[in-house]
Amino acid sequence: MSEIPGNNDDLLALTKDISMRDFHQPFLHNCRYNSRLRSVGGRYLLTTHDIEINLRYALRVGVDGLIDTIKHELCHYHLHLAGRGYRHRDKDFQWLLQRVNGIRYADREALPPRCYRYEYKCQSCGAKYLRKNRIDLKKFVCGKCRGKLRLVADSGPQS
Ligand SMILES: [Zn+2]
Ligand SMILES: [Zn+2]
Repeated sequence: MSEIPGNNDDLLALTKDISMRDFHQPFLHNCRYNSRLRSVGGRYLLTTHDIEINLRYALRVGVDGLIDTIKHELCHYHLHLAGRGYRHRDKDFQWLLQRVNGIRYADREALPPRCYRYEYKCQSCGAKYLRKNRIDLKKFVCGKCRGKLRLVADSGPQS
């Protein structure tokens, strides 16, 4: 197989296959493409137990990268349902991810660059504001408390 599944039904079938093969447990929820995901390769939804896959990411990394992403999300899935440590920092998660040869992080190269450059912080209430363009600090104040904003990070021009 060299192409990524062309629709949600095939994506779900692939996820079920990986679940049985690598985790020896069935995947009983839903897996679908989400074309609005940008900064992650995929995500596991704690409330519905569904998995969503970033379609553009999958197109860029191909089927092998997609399988890695599904494995990663299945680690969250199976551990969460089993009541074990399902977060990245949990020992259970790290152990299971290693056992199935999963990946820790999405391939950054295949994700779009961050869509903001500047990070501002309110000096009174601490609220954060992410902006593509510079803010005129004489004109703009915190939307929550009207406090003064301060530039705390500039991630530089986008590549
Ligand atoms: Zn994760
Ligand atoms: Zn504020």
